[in-house]
Amino acid sequence: MSDVASQPSRLSSIAVLTSGGDAAGMNAAVRAVSRSAARRGIDVYAVHEGYHGLVTGGDLIRRMDPAETDGILHRGGTVIGTARSREFRTREGRLAAARNMVERGIDALVVIGGDGSLAGANQFRQEWSGLLAELVDTGAISAEIAKAHPFLRLTGFVGSIDNDMSGTDMTIGADTALHRIVEALDALHSTAASHQRTFVVEVMGRNCGYLALMSALATAASWVFIPEQPPAEDWPAQICRHIKADREIGRRHSVVVVAEGARDRDGNRITSEHVRALLEEGLGEDVRITVLGHVQRGGAPSAFDRYLATHFGYLAVERLIADEANRPPELIGLQNNRVVTSPLMDCVAHTQQVAERMNSRDYDGALRLRGRHFRESYRITQTMQQAAPRPVTSDRHFRIAVVHGGGPAPGMNAAVRAAVRLGLNHGYTVLAIKNGFKGLRNGDIQEMDWIDVSGWVSEGGAEIGTNRYVPEHPAAIAETAEQIAAHHIDGLLVVGGWAAYRAAHELHRHRRQYPALDIPIVCVPLTVNNDLPATELSIGADTALNSIVVDVDKIRQSAVATRRVFVVEVMGHDCGYLALMGGLATGADRIYLPEEGITLDGLAADVKALAERFRAGKRVGVIVRSEGSDRVYTTGVITSLFQKEGGQLFDARQAILGHVQEGGNPSPFDRVQATILTARCIEFLSEQLESGGRASAMIGFQGGELRFTDLTRYPELVESDVQRPVEQHWINGRELAVVMRD
Ligand code: ADP
Repeated sequence: MSDVASQPSRLSSIAVLTSGGDAAGMNAAVRAVSRSAARRGIDVYAVHEGYHGLVTGGDLIRRMDPAETDGILHRGGTVIGTARSREFRTREGRLAAARNMVERGIDALVVIGGDGSLAGANQFRQEWSGLLAELVDTGAISAEIAKAHPFLRLTGFVGSIDNDMSGTDMTIGADTALHRIVEALDALHSTAASHQRTFVVEVMGRNCGYLALMSALATAASWVFIPEQPPAEDWPAQICRHIKADREIGRRHSVVVVAEGARDRDGNRITSEHVRALLEEGLGEDVRITVLGHVQRGGAPSAFDRYLATHFGYLAVERLIADEANRPPELIGLQNNRVVTSPLMDCVAHTQQVAERMNSRDYDGALRLRGRHFRESYRITQTMQQAAPRPVTSDRHFRIAVVHGGGPAPGMNAAVRAAVRLGLNHGYTVLAIKNGFKGLRNGDIQEMDWIDVSGWVSEGGAEIGTNRYVPEHPAAIAETAEQIAAHHIDGLLVVGGWAAYRAAHELHRHRRQYPALDIPIVCVPLTVNNDLPATELSIGADTALNSIVVDVDKIRQSAVATRRVFVVEVMGHDCGYLALMGGLATGADRIYLPEEGITLDGLAADVKALAERFRAGKRVGVIVRSEGSDRVYTTGVITSLFQKEGGQLFDARQAILGHVQEGGNPSPFDRVQATILTARCIEFLSEQLESGGRASAMIGFQGGELRFTDLTRYPELVESDVQRPVEQHWINGRELAVVMRD
């Protein structure tokens, strides 16, 4: 390549397009690209109707003012449209596309689509200099224009409900689709239970069983068919036996989930009709089919999709700016809970390999390529499905107990359900302690049976009760130890938040003094606040974030006829996680966190900046304040301040979201994680019990891995005077919030 040809010009304009199937979160991505670019003084052109718009040009490629992206974060689909384009598959089409770009001074492109769209973009980039040379030859553009755009800067990320792309653990839209499917399955469960009926539900996923697998795990489906792992040869007999056995132990209904692309070991499709006919014959009862179809694509994006798309969009702009040397294109993705980049074409090739493995019937290979999280979810789905109460035959009959602590959090029941079923499956007696550690001290303990936890996977609240009591006084510890001894508790599973962890540590701390306390104890992080040590994320927080997002969407809508600033207070005690993530997912103008506090100067600057925006036509402002941000500048005080200073420009109202954040049915993510983490913890307890070990631990997500941290380390991992851990990974999102704010 000649020196002249490789001289890049300063990046001044970026085009962004959405392509392939639409996915919730695409709007959040476009908004993020627009705002991030504006901060860096770069123009953004929205290409409407995907590659069709890029080829057609004209009005389909329009400069986008960042203000145009106000009010799109919460909308499903893609406001700039998507289309399939046959022309772009041809060189002719790509020639027109290149001309349309350089004529507008654009040589940078963000593509949000599936693997097809990204592969197409890569081809376009490879041909770029050839296309421009041809345009110069035919006189369509000048040599100067061609020289000014020596290469195409390209980056992309995946918008696809299928979650079928390598290079990212999650694609944008998959979490929202899972929400839609789980809502539908929950609804079907209630009607199916009323009539003792079986439903066969077909969900999307031609090559990828992600949606089928996770929705089955999140709703306790009786059976699931996914393309990556065809069932055993004798599956028709197995599935009938399985559902009959379920009925015999008292389950009133069954739901079978079938992925669109499900197949048998010979590669023949397993259709929902096929499954229905077989079950009707085997069970001798009516079986109904529900094909969920396009509802799975629709609706408002989930909190996670909004956040993820925002982060991806931001990084896309940063990476394009950094590309000064015709770098091979990158895919932006989420890996191990970190937003990272990987070589785009490696990801495309890897993705296509999964399909090839399935076509050549190398199913184990296909499953391996799907990654660890998928495999673990598959393994646990199978274990939960197959787990059945067995008569205890061994002498080593252990008794394990499960207890909550802290505020109620969505996912608690799912965790107890998994503990009961998996504990029974090990041949153990499983005890539920009622009303937290107070119940343990008082001996409020009940033996649990298989059917006692039926339906609990989807229920909010905490059926066995929870509270914030921590046994601290010597008498409390002594009485607790007595109860543990009296009930012959060999191992303790603690599922909850701050108080639960403190209580677990208190008991563990006194194990030398009281032999009854010298048992393995394992803690599962389950609180909406996400304020626990030894984990980057607690279960329950995702549901709370979705609750915040739904409420703030409504609050915004309520202000249509007025100019108004809402000061929204969210939970968190001393931890700003819900405020930051909730603020990012709702497009908050300002976010106040306990980690940073609030100052008078800061408030004055914020009032001034917002007033400026209202003067320029802004209609609704949202400020998200974490409940523990500041003792003096309360939500009321801040609201009064904005009300006074808003004058004629806007008025101000407060909205304290309160306990709704702890309620509601758990999100799909929280159900799945509650089940997976509990399963791991039961394995941990089992290993300790069977080997005579006494280790105690806290399970948690650390850089995407599930890890156990010794419970003795608890004091060093938490702040001594406030309720939060020493390390908080999520705080890095602060920078993103500043870029995104208005
Ligand atoms: P997805 O991006 O969801 O995988 P498609 O495979 O349908 O969806 O691709 C969307 C669009 O991307 C196509 O209509 C076409 O314009 C473009 N495209 C896909 N593959 C290629 C390719 N190999 N070369 C050029 N363009 C392509």
